[in-house]
Order: sequence, then structure tokens, then C-alpha cells
Amino acid sequence: MLLPSIFARCSAVVAGSITCFFLLLSAHLFAQSSPNLLPLERVDPPFWWVGMKNSSVELLWYGKDIAKANVTMKYDGVKILKRETTANPNYLFLTLEISPKAKPGNVMFTLRNGASVIARSYSLLARQKGLKEAQGFSSADAVYMLMPDRFSNGDSTNDVVAGFPDQMHRDSLNARHGGDLQGIINHLDYIRDLGMTAVWCTPLTENNMDKYSYHGYAFTDFYAVDKRFGTNDDYRRYVDSCHKHGLKVIQDIVLNHMGDKNYLAIDPPSSVWINDLAAAKASTNWRKEFRRPNYRSSTHSDPYASDYDKRGLTERWFDWMMPDVNGSEPHFATYLIQNTLWWIEFAGLDGLRVDTYPYPAKEFTAKWTKAVFDEYPRLGMVGEVWIGESVGMSAYWQAGARNADGFNSHLPSITDFPLNSALGSAFNEKEEWMGGMVKLYNTLAQDFLYADASKNVIFLDNHDLSRYLSVVHEDSRKLKMALSVLMTMRGTPQIYYGTEIGMTGYKDPDPLVRKDFPGGWKEDTVSAFAPEGRTPKQNEFFTHLKTLATWRKSKPVIHSGKLMQFVPNEGIYAYFRYNTNETVMVVVNNNESESTVKTDRYTERMQGFTKAHNVLTGETLSSLGSITIPAKTALVLDLQK
Ligand code: CA
Repeated sequence: MLLPSIFARCSAVVAGSITCFFLLLSAHLFAQSSPNLLPLERVDPPFWWVGMKNSSVELLWYGKDIAKANVTMKYDGVKILKRETTANPNYLFLTLEISPKAKPGNVMFTLRNGASVIARSYSLLARQKGLKEAQGFSSADAVYMLMPDRFSNGDSTNDVVAGFPDQMHRDSLNARHGGDLQGIINHLDYIRDLGMTAVWCTPLTENNMDKYSYHGYAFTDFYAVDKRFGTNDDYRRYVDSCHKHGLKVIQDIVLNHMGDKNYLAIDPPSSVWINDLAAAKASTNWRKEFRRPNYRSSTHSDPYASDYDKRGLTERWFDWMMPDVNGSEPHFATYLIQNTLWWIEFAGLDGLRVDTYPYPAKEFTAKWTKAVFDEYPRLGMVGEVWIGESVGMSAYWQAGARNADGFNSHLPSITDFPLNSALGSAFNEKEEWMGGMVKLYNTLAQDFLYADASKNVIFLDNHDLSRYLSVVHEDSRKLKMALSVLMTMRGTPQIYYGTEIGMTGYKDPDPLVRKDFPGGWKEDTVSAFAPEGRTPKQNEFFTHLKTLATWRKSKPVIHSGKLMQFVPNEGIYAYFRYNTNETVMVVVNNNESESTVKTDRYTERMQGFTKAHNVLTGETLSSLGSITIPAKTALVLDLQK
């Protein structure tokens, strides 16, 4: 009598509605007849697909004493390849082999322990999203990065959710502010109109922590969107809406740590799933005595590194409420790989941003990265590689790097922190032999170390850095110079929300660079989402960026053209982007006075060109023998014959 209703509900899943993740057969029925087997708490992944390139999937079954169960199933084209258990009897790992001939449907499992029996349905869906839709991202894109909790509150009904103790207090820096998926959906027009082509949100995955959860980097359920942001279906709606707006979607992935309220942390399958767990348990005052990482990502590439220091990076807890995930444990590695594939397939993602990329054991991250690309070769991916100003240590992490130890991350793109650092100094310092714009020049001069610097993601600021306008002491000229360079430089530019309207803030504490976007809340008195709500200065920044970003969209010479730079001289720095059809000159005057520059030193790139279109002003320069540049300005000149 129960079976037909189960099949009826799960056929809805196959039809496309994913509101029913899994189904448990009548808990009370088995509670009566089976004292030994209790209902399953969950199965991860909650459903899977037929027709994946990798034909196997490992199901993690979690429930009281589930390891004691004998499991059988019957489904055409699907068989149990492996049944494994760990030290904790509450876990069972079943590897399924799904033949290419298997049809979508519901696999019925029977779990037996003596006289007690549980039946369980598991859905195999037809592939719809990830296979067809992953577009990747490249230097032809411009990425808008935002923190969902701080961008816009589009749905006040999810501001307070029962069972989620970290509540909304907009006045508190560290509490939740109520931003959500609907808020982002409401403002995709704004992001598109700014000239952006992709959106990267900091994680939307559930962070049901006691406090300080708004940032999203402490996952408590790898398979759920945080209810304060919306539902999993809302997330699909957000992705679909982005695609309709011509915006690609980049999801933030965390492999290094999770929230201590994750069931995998509360009741881990075995003690080795979490690094340094013994030290955590031995401590009488964990919050004070836990062992932080040394944050030295250098230890991976350092030919002289000690094991002590290497483990000090990869095996320590990121923070006291963030246990360290051990990706070297094979089941956990599989869990994380499948979780990523699940989100790509479920939502139809275009790319991933991978948090703290060098923090786990690098053999694991490389394995994870390769597995993702084996399934989705067109996907885009950038890893957060934050090793200060060192181009060499950053380049180590890019796929194709010529590393002495033979390490290949398989990661196509890294966050370009060396360029970020140079951009922070270039317009702030006096021009000297090693100061000012020479830092920018010298950083780019080290691009030979990268396998492909054009794949780097380049940025002025992000959620972990002081906002650029504050870095340059609120000198609006410097922000505009930096934006001009960012939008014309090799790499994929990333804009942090609010930079386009000159938001300020020094990191320390972090929330000061994560302020609410003005107008994102209905009670806000002004809205910077519309020109009339912005101050003249805010409009100046917005228009500056929009002009460059919009122009850039149809400029292959910026996306993929070569780069030639000239050594900065007397406060003037010029570089060119060029291909066989087009040449763009960017010439920066870092002096406090207007400068007129004779262009004969640039002849090798300017020969044959007689005039130029000033991209930002729309003016035409009718002669190019000398160019006059206002103080603290970067000219972007489209050269013409
Ligand atoms: Ca909300």
C-alpha cells in the first residue's frame, strides 16, 4: 500500500521538481517491527543522475547503526559495486555502478538487520542542466562578486527561520542582515547594466552556526542552500535568471573546512575525517587552545619545507568553529567531489571559485580538480591562491606550471594577489626606482612564471581586503585609474560589490568591508541601484566602470590580445593590448600635474596609427605625436589608422 505513493512522489522528482529529495518508508512502521534499525537520517548525495561520464556514485548512508544492515536492491542497469563501513557504525558507504543504459527512475533499496527491514527509494534523474549549460568563464568576462547577506533583502519572510539561532540584527556587524537570493534576482538588471557578465556570490550553502554565520564559509549541510537565503529551488531560479540576463554563475566552493555544526563534524564517520581532532578533544578550552594553521601556503612549493610546517598548514583548523576537512581520507574526497558535481548538475553552473585552495593536502585538491573537469571540461574555475606578492609561489598552483616537484593542480585560474598588491601600491607611492608604478610593471614582468597569466582573475578588492578607495585614501582619481587598468589588463577582471559606487572600509574587522549595499533593504532611505539615488561622485565611479566594462565586452583585443608594456618613466606608464586587427594604448600619468608625453618611444606599437578614440570621454585625438594626460589619470585609447 505504501509503495505506490512513494513512486508517485518520486516520479515528480524525475519530472523536474526537486522539492522531494528522498523518501523514507514509514518510520513508525519499522519502529514497531525493528528495534535494531532506525530510520535513516540522510543519504548523500540526496539524488543522482543517469548518464554521467563517471558511471559510479558512492552513497553515504547515515543513521543509527546503519553499518549493521544488509542492503539489497534491484534496478535495471544499476548494481552495488561496493559496500564499506567505517569505525562509526552510523555510516554505510555504498558504491553504485550505473550503466549507460540505466533509465531515470527510483531505485528501491531494502536494508535488513535480522527481522527488521527498511525500504528506501533513491532517485536517479535525467541530466538536464550541467551537461548542457556549463559555459565556463574567461578573460572575455567581467565578474561581479557579492556577499548575499549584505547585498539585498528581497524576501523578508526568510529573515528569521526557526531552528537557525544566528538571527538577523542589521545593526550588528557580525549578525545576519537578511540579504538573500531574491534580493540578488531583483538586481540582476543592475549588474548587467554595469557591464558585468558573471556573478560570483560568497557561499550560499547552509551555515547553521550559533553565530557569525553570514559569511557562509562554515558549511553545516553540503547539499542545502541556507534557508535564510532561500531554498535549493530558489537557487536554481537564481541561476536561470542570471542566464536569462546574460550573466554566468560562479559558485563558491569550500574544501578545506566546514562548520562544527555539520553532522560530519558532530558525529564523524571516523576520527581521521577531521584533522587534528584528537587535539581538539584533548583541549579543555578549545576555543582558546585550538591549533590555527600557520597560513603559510609557501610550504607546498618550498623545496626546503619541513613536514612540521607543511602539516601546520594543511592539518590545522581554520578557526575554532571550522574543523579541518581531511580530503586525504578517500571517502571524504569522494564526498566532496560528488558534492561539487551535484551542484553543477543540479543548478547548471558555469564556474567555481574555490576557497583557500592551497590549504588542504595538495594531492587531494588536484584530484578533486581533475575529477570536476573530467565530468565538466567546459567549466570555469578559479582557486583562491593568496600568497602575498610572490608571483612564483602563486604560479605554482596553475595547471601547466613547470614545477620542479612535478605537481600539477589542474586548476586553470588563480586569484592574482600579486597584481592586487601592485595595484594597491602603484598609484599610492612616489615614483622611484622600485616604487610606485614600477611595482605594477615589475609584477607583470614576472608573468613568464605563469603557465598562462591571461587566465588569472584580477581584482582591486574583495571581501577579505580593505576596499580599494580606502587603500588609496579616498582619492577618487586613483580608484578610476585602477579601474581603467583593471578593465584593460590581461586576465578576468572581478569587481567587488560597491566598488562601482566607491564604497569604503578598512578590513579589521572584516565586516567593515562587507557593509550593506545602499538600497538593498526596503527601509533604506536611498538606493544606489538607480542613478537618481546615487550621489554625483557615486555616479562618476559607476559611469566610469560601466563605460569601460561595456566597451570591453566587444573587444577581443582586450580579451585575448597580446600585452606590451614600457618601463615607467617620470611618472608615466604605458602599455598596449594588440592583435592583428586592433591596438589599444593605456597611458597612465601618476604625477600630480598634467603631463604631455612625446610618443616616439612607443613607435613599435603606434606606427601607422594617426588618431585615437578616447574610450572614457568619447573624444577623438586627431594627432598622436604627443599626448597630454591630466594629472592622476589613465587614458584608454583605441588607436585608429
Ligand atoms: Ca531575507
